[in-house]
Amino acid sequence: MMPEHHPGDDLLIAYAAGSQDEPVALVVATHLALCPRCRKEVERLEELGGVLLEEHKTEALGEDSLARVLARLDDAALEAPDPQAPEPAPVDPRMPRPLRNYLGAGLERLDWTSYRGLDKAELLTEVPGFRTRLMRIKSGTAMPAHTHEGTELTLVLAGGFSDEHGHFLRGDVAEADAATDHRPVADPGEDCLCLAVTDAPLRLTGPFGRLLNPFLRI
Ligand SMILES: [Zn+2]
Repeated sequence: MMPEHHPGDDLLIAYAAGSQDEPVALVVATHLALCPRCRKEVERLEELGGVLLEEHKTEALGEDSLARVLARLDDAALEAPDPQAPEPAPVDPRMPRPLRNYLGAGLERLDWTSYRGLDKAELLTEVPGFRTRLMRIKSGTAMPAHTHEGTELTLVLAGGFSDEHGHFLRGDVAEADAATDHRPVADPGEDCLCLAVTDAPLRLTGPFGRLLNPFLRI
């Protein structure tokens, strides 16, 4: 089934231009792995970018470009797999390829914390200014109502959830910002597994949310 909720054009353009922060690029790349429509659009944007670069090519690509290419090849060599590295974890078929590289020893061996039907595991903790998490919401569970001080991108990997803005299933991306006040509810029948990236802490809005806010830092 094809996703129905796609990242906005601004996200696809920034991805094609390679100008996105890694956590956001990870959400877009994971969506692209599941969405032929957006893959096509990003290909088109990349071609467009290539044509523009070609048209503007001047001496900017000067003498040191060979040195730069060689330096990059050196970097690539450094990233070659370590033969001493432990066996890779068995692949979870629900995890699209771009995300697998971030899961280390596998989904179940991540450092999960649980609170009232919501499990969270942090990824990419070394990137400042973002929180990148896998979230597992127990089927049928409602999340506390909340809004955002920044932007929240949520990509569904398994199961689904609904909020005031629609119904989100595998591959769908929900974008929320300071103007969004929502209360996601996981679909019944299957836990909802999501990749969520926020660039600022959430602010809980319900009556209990305000009370819980300092404790429940979702
Ligand atoms: Zn798409």
